[in-house]
Amino acid sequence: MTQHHQDQQPWSPTGWRELPARQQPAYPDKELLQSTLDSLRTLPPLVYPTEIEQLKKQMGAAAAGQRFILQGGDCAERFSECTQANITNKMKILLQMSLILTYGTRKPVVRLGRIAGQYAKPRSSAEETVNGVSYPSYRGDAVNDYELDAARRVPDPQRLMQAYSRSALTLNYIRAMINGGFADLRHAFAWKLHSIEKAKKWEEYRDIVETILDAIHFMESCGVDSYLLASVDFFTSHEGLLLEYESALTHRDPSSGRYYNMGAHMLWIGERTRQLDGAHVEYCRGLANPVGVKIGPDADPEEVIELLRRLNPANEEGKVTLITRMGMERVEKALPPLLRHIHQSKTSVTWSCDPMHGNTRTVSGGIKTRTFDHIEGELESCFRIHQENSSTLAGVHFELTGEDVTECTGGSANLQDKDLARNYVSTCDPRLNYSQSLEMAFLISRQVRL
Ligand code: PEP
Ligand code: MN
Repeated sequence: MTQHHQDQQPWSPTGWRELPARQQPAYPDKELLQSTLDSLRTLPPLVYPTEIEQLKKQMGAAAAGQRFILQGGDCAERFSECTQANITNKMKILLQMSLILTYGTRKPVVRLGRIAGQYAKPRSSAEETVNGVSYPSYRGDAVNDYELDAARRVPDPQRLMQAYSRSALTLNYIRAMINGGFADLRHAFAWKLHSIEKAKKWEEYRDIVETILDAIHFMESCGVDSYLLASVDFFTSHEGLLLEYESALTHRDPSSGRYYNMGAHMLWIGERTRQLDGAHVEYCRGLANPVGVKIGPDADPEEVIELLRRLNPANEEGKVTLITRMGMERVEKALPPLLRHIHQSKTSVTWSCDPMHGNTRTVSGGIKTRTFDHIEGELESCFRIHQENSSTLAGVHFELTGEDVTECTGGSANLQDKDLARNYVSTCDPRLNYSQSLEMAFLISRQVRL
């Protein structure tokens, strides 16, 4: 099946196979891969085209400054962490952050989880050497096992089915929680404010929460429709990395004739796989879903414009989000020319800032961490640079968790490098913990109001 655009080559969900595809697992058992993909193709989708279109509309509104996007979740979800407690805590922190951001930005927040499908990771090197022994790198639970065992590190196609099932279970529970009233603002789910009592700006944070709660009680006493208070939109996203998996979940919507990836509302292309003539860009250009692209500090502005043209030939609003991840030190130089070129080209784009991936450092012992102040620093610069260039920063992208982990340093508890070992859970990149995430939301909400 092909789909023609005026100025474009035909597209099909598997046309990307003709092009170089980076970061794809080398499955020894090709037959098992085929049969697994065949089963995946027949299973019911996780999301619905109208939901995807709704998200795209909201992303477009965010680009126009009418909404603000909060995208966040684990660097890599684990199969073993698909539990009630884990999902509940993640939803709780995301909803609390979105309330604070609504207060700060005075805009409705687009809630977008890095959740229900974030099971595959790009790696800088194919192998990992421990004590002189080389193992294939861990590529996420959708591909192989984290355990350091050569046999378990071999890519296993059946993990794709497990990833799909876990995604379905996660999303099912999220939908149940929302329908069941978990997001009900009147309950204002217990804020663990004591966790940031030591923060320098603590008094201010407490005042903000009190103001939010007052506003909720006020709306309630005015008889604002309880339905509006009780329900929220929530969308899912993950990196569209494993192209065989993603194309198996791609379906043509008979009513519009458009192709949707129905395994998530939004996908993004990573910094390592966004080559103009690469398979990932080819696959994503045919999707009607909103698509994100991570943009690092070395990106050439002209190339990014070409990327936008390929991914969004109709210049549809909300279709492409550029998620810049420059690093605190490089954002000042790298972001302004990008903004200028792209605004001159008149291509529509939604801008988001990922202040995590350009600020990773490795401490002795090889543990990856990020410093709270560096994350905040990149965000602050990003807000300012957009403003100076008459551009709109439409959203933020975080790696975070609702748990009390010790993966990033700093924040109100002032975690140090030596504290990291205490509760470092991530198998990939370090996440903000509950209190660091909460504080980050307060800081952003101050930022936008200045
Ligand atoms: C990620 O989002 O986990 C990631 C790998 O990011 P990037 O592609 O920006 O490096
Ligand atoms: Mn990451």
